[in-house]
Amino acid sequence: MSGYADLHTHTTASDGTQPPAENVRLAKEAGLAAIGITDHDTVAGIQEAVEEGEKLGIKVVPGVEISTVAGGQDIHVLGYGIDERDPVFLDRLRQLRDVRETRNEMMIARLNELGLAVTMEEVLAGVSKTRPDETIGRPHIAQALIAKGYVSSMEEAFERYLGKTGVAYVNPPRIHPSEAIRWIHEAGGTAVLAHPGLYHDDPLVDELIGEGLDGIEAYHSDHTPEDEAKYASLANRHGLLVTAGSDYHGERHGQVFHGPIGNRRIAEDVVEKLLERRREDRANHS
Ligand code: AMP
Ligand code: ZN
Ligand code: FE
Ligand code: FE
Repeated sequence: MSGYADLHTHTTASDGTQPPAENVRLAKEAGLAAIGITDHDTVAGIQEAVEEGEKLGIKVVPGVEISTVAGGQDIHVLGYGIDERDPVFLDRLRQLRDVRETRNEMMIARLNELGLAVTMEEVLAGVSKTRPDETIGRPHIAQALIAKGYVSSMEEAFERYLGKTGVAYVNPPRIHPSEAIRWIHEAGGTAVLAHPGLYHDDPLVDELIGEGLDGIEAYHSDHTPEDEAKYASLANRHGLLVTAGSDYHGERHGQVFHGPIGNRRIAEDVVEKLLERRREDRANHS
């Protein structure tokens, strides 16, 4: 009997609200066989999740969601099975976190110009970080805006200020998704394009397939049934892996953004394929 995997979840290592072990417990409750831990630009949550997975008999797929830019918008590339101790890869993630930190400072400066008195200290006050490489993101800034009474919901924070078309949105230069694919491959991982339905840029998807993309997250909490059918068939046509992810971030102000763990799931056979390159890599080194 084959079980199911939810391959895209966030923890307190980035902008999720639950610690890594809790995601694994929720995966068990949801009846899943496997769960991916894919925090933004960090692998800091993986070890805790792997340990909990061993206790509960849930397979934990080590992952990361890399922030890149193409065509002026954020594009997320998921990396699975990367060697999370590879020093070159870790240094590359550090560079991404530096850009992210600068971006956060720029957005706060922009909010201040707009008359919203919010500081980085206030953002950090609402966040519990336990490991050095954990990341801060826009949801944390949104939380501070709510706490200070400038907006009354996450939606309002993103719509008015922090989202793509918000007045405080800043997007400094970042790596191109093709670069993320290369980094993931060099770290023994498998590269999957996250939520392509959100980009409205199918020429980019084709371009990335040409750049060695290994899979497409056809099933995602924010995809329409049409998106899901389209990207699953595109992946199949090119012989790419098809993945599914809830993009779980926990609950903020009573709302689950994206979806609960298990909201999107795929037969767990894909997990082995996502980890194949890592195995080959290890075999080559021994
Ligand atoms: P960042 O990586 O700091 O740019 O933040 C990106 C995260 O913000 C995404 O992973 C989403 O979880 C969250 N996000 C993006 N748009 C919205 C929105 N409209 N409402 C709530 N959260 C959002
Ligand atoms: Zn996020
Ligand atoms: Fe994403
Ligand atoms: Fe995500």
